[in-house]
Amino acid sequence: MQNHKQPKALYLLFFTEMWERFSFYGMKALLLAYMVTQIKFDEPKAYAILGSYAALVYTMPMFGGMIADKFLGYRKAIVFGGIIMSVGHFVLAIPQEWSFFYGMAFIICGNGFFKPNISSLVGTLYEENDVRRDSGFSLFYMGINIGAALGGLLCGYVGQKINWHYGFGLAGIFMILGLVVFVLGKNILQDKGLPPSEEVLKKPILSFIKTEHFIYLATLLLVPAVVFLFNQYSIMDYIMFGLGFLSFIYILWIGFKLDLESRNKLFAALVMIVFSVLFWAFYEQNSGSLNLFAMRNVNMTINGAELPALAINNFLPPGWVIILSIVFAWLWPWLNQKGKEPSTPLKFSLSFILMGIGFFVFYLACNNNIQTGLIPLWTFVLGYFFIIAGELCLSPIGLSMITKLSPTKIVGLMMGIWFFASAIGEFMAGKIGALMSVPEAVQNNSVASMPYYSSILSNIALGCLAVGVTLFLFVPLLKKWMKNIN
Ligand code: GLN
Repeated sequence: MQNHKQPKALYLLFFTEMWERFSFYGMKALLLAYMVTQIKFDEPKAYAILGSYAALVYTMPMFGGMIADKFLGYRKAIVFGGIIMSVGHFVLAIPQEWSFFYGMAFIICGNGFFKPNISSLVGTLYEENDVRRDSGFSLFYMGINIGAALGGLLCGYVGQKINWHYGFGLAGIFMILGLVVFVLGKNILQDKGLPPSEEVLKKPILSFIKTEHFIYLATLLLVPAVVFLFNQYSIMDYIMFGLGFLSFIYILWIGFKLDLESRNKLFAALVMIVFSVLFWAFYEQNSGSLNLFAMRNVNMTINGAELPALAINNFLPPGWVIILSIVFAWLWPWLNQKGKEPSTPLKFSLSFILMGIGFFVFYLACNNNIQTGLIPLWTFVLGYFFIIAGELCLSPIGLSMITKLSPTKIVGLMMGIWFFASAIGEFMAGKIGALMSVPEAVQNNSVASMPYYSSILSNIALGCLAVGVTLFLFVPLLKKWMKNIN
């Protein structure tokens, strides 16, 4: 009988990631609305900047993962990333024009080191076929979402209702808290996540600087380059397309150097990674268009009191994750014992179907409330229920899948590529969001703004269902490729 108790180190990573995500999602809750209502960017531009931010913030993990695999190890990468992210949040708290792009650029660079490596570190806590792995990742995912729920709620409220920069600053304080938790507790990890070779780290580069310090310096130099990209955001189309293409080819190339069994596993992961791009493109309307939709077209009045729309829209998804994680943490092992647990590809297919139902609920709610332009809050809550049930069939499962299907030496990189898929997805989400841009003249008129959302929401619902069915057709092949891995 296997021991089902989770390793203690999981709780360290749980709390570290919880506070980091508090800050990450607290800040993201404010981003689009801040650009539209405070900086007064027109909506298509605001969506493009949001898409670029989200794309870059999830592109960097590919490099951060690779650098951790080869040089820093997961722990150093997490600490360095956390410091840089904290700087970013505090820069955003400065009420100056220049600080906006710089703050985001720091967060992007820091997240590249922090995010993939803390997830890979979770993977190192388990042996290859340890049954605790999936539930460990589900628990970890719950930590992410407790942080996101609190961050969305608090920063969303403080930012929208008190002062936008206080909201950003609050995020920074919690990032520091995450960092402190990790640094104080990291001995519990024993030898996990140490650099692959101390010697390589100390080796001088360009004869005057150690490799480790060179990595830190180069990252700082990247910050102004990212600011440049924000200023020239149309270049992002080429960057995302180019990097997407290259990383796809790169995995194929690695795959063809492996033995048949490992190659099939890697390719199964690749197919699921590609599908996940579409998942995030639809899902991430949450941090984009649905923020403005919540402000304009959801009835936030309860018993005469007006709820803060941004806080609610950013609290609901992680709030549902917390509740539904408990259900799934029980459901998967229960089905497993009966020999009926869906395979990873089937869970992925299900995730699209569920998300499609969620968007369909939003659409129906719009359709039934054309006269007022306001959908009842419960329909908003219900739609998110389905979307998040979908998320739980893909996102935590994907993390676990990456650590199971990738050859050990490139887990960090593959984790980075997993997040890069969400980068492309979020970039696309910005483009889909822009289709829901509401002209300035009717931004404060619910009846007039509603149709801008409802038609696109119905198309998103149909898109989700179509992708879910397509993926379903791939399930037998993917299962064959995955062989003994569930
Ligand atoms: N919400 C999850 C997190 O913040 C997943 C994000 C993603 O993979 N894009 O970790």
